[in-house]
Amino acid sequence: MSAFDVDLFVIGGGSGGVRAARIAAGYGARVMLAEEYRMGGTCVIRGCVPKKLLVYASRFSGEFEEAAGFGWNVPTPSFDWATLIRNKDAEIARLEGVYRKSLVAAGVEIVDSRAVIEDAHTVRIVETGSRVRARIILVAVGAHPTLEPRIPGGELGITSNEVFHLERLPERILVVGGGYIAVEFAGVFAGLGSRVTLLHRGDKLLRGFDEDIRDALGEAYGRRGIDLRLRRTVERLDRHGGAIRATLSDGSVLEVDEVLVATGRRPNTAGLGLEAAGIEVDRAGAIPVDGYSQTITPSIYAVGDVTNRANLTPVAIREGHAFADTVFGNKPAMVDHSLIPTAVFSTPEIGVIGLSEAAARLRGPVTIYKTSFRPMKATLSGHDDRVLMKLVVDGETDKVLGVHILGEGAGEIIQAVGIAVTMGATKADFDRTIAVHPTAAEELVTMRTPFVVKHPQAVG
Ligand code: FAD
Ligand code: NDP
Repeated sequence: MSAFDVDLFVIGGGSGGVRAARIAAGYGARVMLAEEYRMGGTCVIRGCVPKKLLVYASRFSGEFEEAAGFGWNVPTPSFDWATLIRNKDAEIARLEGVYRKSLVAAGVEIVDSRAVIEDAHTVRIVETGSRVRARIILVAVGAHPTLEPRIPGGELGITSNEVFHLERLPERILVVGGGYIAVEFAGVFAGLGSRVTLLHRGDKLLRGFDEDIRDALGEAYGRRGIDLRLRRTVERLDRHGGAIRATLSDGSVLEVDEVLVATGRRPNTAGLGLEAAGIEVDRAGAIPVDGYSQTITPSIYAVGDVTNRANLTPVAIREGHAFADTVFGNKPAMVDHSLIPTAVFSTPEIGVIGLSEAAARLRGPVTIYKTSFRPMKATLSGHDDRVLMKLVVDGETDKVLGVHILGEGAGEIIQAVGIAVTMGATKADFDRTIAVHPTAAEELVTMRTPFVVKHPQAVG
């Protein structure tokens, strides 16, 4: 008889944990998975999926406005937040059920409870106090938003967890932060009709993205009427009647109905019992792992946001899958984190793969191709939208190192272009690809004149 109750105990039923559990069970492993909240994790319950549904909702206002130029007479539209939230909640509940069913169908035993680690092979089910001995433990507990930095009255703010359940659409909202979540929700609320102030400590939004994209997004948000306040922080929040007063570092005071704090997330490692198994977290609270997602304790692995590598759903899924292949499928697999396509669902949307111009220049000579143009739809609608497309090309090998897009459909475009870039496509490959006309994406294969050429002898 086996010394273990199960071959694999997965802690966390999110993107990474669910994939790992299903694939490991498919290899014949006896798998148990504990989830303390709702099956599906952040992405399904309070992340990518409900966020994208809100993004869709927010974009109708622009469509209604644009319709007039094409001959449509749209009566003044009205919006009902309660209907959107109710319909969104129903869809999330449906998806949660799908996740649960897929695990059961794969033969995974589900435990609806928090689970903590007691030693290298033991997990305690908190609800029942029972202990499970596992040959392998996978930690896939994700991360949570923080109300940082701590300021007086900071508890009046909400995070992305609460934003999906607001009782009413705020008339005025202050969004704090300049990353993915702040930028996306500022766009959502602006589209739904709220007056949005987006406040960020830096001098541009989306640190780490290409400078042209950062500039173009700032300009686009300004055109959409978002009040962008840069190089500022919030010093305190006070309740003022039914409103919240935010005192900013420049001394100004802002009165709003909600304050959404989106200043980052922390791995869910507190109280997990990692120390009992000899695992120390890093300064960000994340679990250090090797290329196979194995921790310093050989029987314990970790995938997804809890490892703070690239905090995206498809990455967590890929890490979970690679873990299962390696440990239970006899197919050692590492995840390549060097080339990850990503989209920011701002409006206008952003799609990116590979290096920014600045990062590429640090490695050697590059050739830049870029274009900024008015999309065809804007010619009749009268909208002042711009599309930006940029290619960062290796000046020596002609390989496309980075593609950066801002404009409608950028996320969809970058997924497809990402295949070519992942395959190592050169600019010549892009050039010999016949354009699809009339599209915005055809610009990616028709840009011929370098914007800036840096020859090797000019570097340094
Ligand atoms: P999670 O999905 O967070 O799952 C972890 C699970 O573990 C949770 O269900 C949690 O309840 C459970 N858990 C925690 N501790 C315990 C315990 N001790 N016992 C039992 N269960 C436990 N990524 C994208 O790629 N595209 C997007 O558009 C996108 N949008 C996002 C929007 C928002 C608002 C947020 C917050 C995130 C978004 N992300 C997006 C990021 C994405 O959601 C995460 O990268 C992804 O969910 C990480 O998966 P995971 O498996 O590591 O963790
Ligand atoms: P991000 O790390 O993307 O952004 C955090 C923002 O908060 C940054 O602008 C940062 O500024 C700012 N910040 C951090 N600390 C402070 C502070 N003490 N005071 C003031 N500002 C501060 O985190 P998010 O919470 O937006 O999102 C978390 C992660 O979730 C993302 O990084 C991404 O991986 C994932 N995600 C992905 C999405 C997608 O794929 N579309 C959508 C949403 C989330 P600075 O830049 O100066 O450090």
